[in-house]
Amino acid sequence: MSDQSQSHASQDDQARALQLRDSLHHARSRIDRACSDSGRDAAGITLIVVTKFFPARDVLSLVDLGVRDIGESRDQEARPKVEQVGLRTDPERMPRVHMIGQVQTKKARSIARYADVVHSVDRARLVTALDRAAGAAIEQGERSGRLDVTLQVDLDGGDNERRGGVPVQDASALADDIAGCEFLRLRGVMAIAPAQAAGDDVALGSAFEALARCHELIVASHPAATWLSAGMSGDLEHAIAAGATHLRVGSVILGSRPPQR
Ligand SMILES: *Cc1c(COP(=O)(O)O)cnc(C)c1O
Repeated sequence: MSDQSQSHASQDDQARALQLRDSLHHARSRIDRACSDSGRDAAGITLIVVTKFFPARDVLSLVDLGVRDIGESRDQEARPKVEQVGLRTDPERMPRVHMIGQVQTKKARSIARYADVVHSVDRARLVTALDRAAGAAIEQGERSGRLDVTLQVDLDGGDNERRGGVPVQDASALADDIAGCEFLRLRGVMAIAPAQAAGDDVALGSAFEALARCHELIVASHPAATWLSAGMSGDLEHAIAAGATHLRVGSVILGSRPPQR
């Protein structure tokens, strides 16, 4: 590479870092405003920046901007990316890695090596696979403690095989399963707003209210399961109003992604 093309590359990197700074700032302002509108303290909210489809370089820029939590959705993409970030980041600044996409049971062992949290736990077989995988990872010295998980609830009323989630009426039983695992720790509940609610204030409000009620029931028997992981680029205000503690925000910070297969 010539000196000239190298300097172009670094100018591009710098422009990208500035863009990320501005879009992150804008997302944080939206969060602050939504918190003050609902009388909540923004300190009670964790912003998970969803970096799926974007390179490790962006994650490193986000770390420089103070991001402490990143979200990824596919093991084959996340695994090498997390490794690259790890090699170039001071361990104290290494972001926590949240797996937020549908997890195949055969990927459990790989994910248990590097994920801090799995948000999308929605079936008993996956609970068993992740528990076993986390146990093996601890035994091999690949992770230091239990794997935090949230239980994904389906707000679509079925018909969403790609998005996943346990039906609301089965959530308590699955929560009990998770709570019985030696190497998993049930932290709370996660959901994605129904596809047909996008842009519809009333539908989003009632979907997240239903989620909050489901969460209350689970907290009643699992008091440590306080996390409510809800809210994305298009609906974070509604999620905050309903009590979300963890937002998963991608496109308004990193830019739009190619359409999902
Ligand atoms: C991609 C993804 C997000 C982020 O969505 P944006 O609309 O880009 O903010 C959040 N949650 C899940 C489960 C995702 O797959």
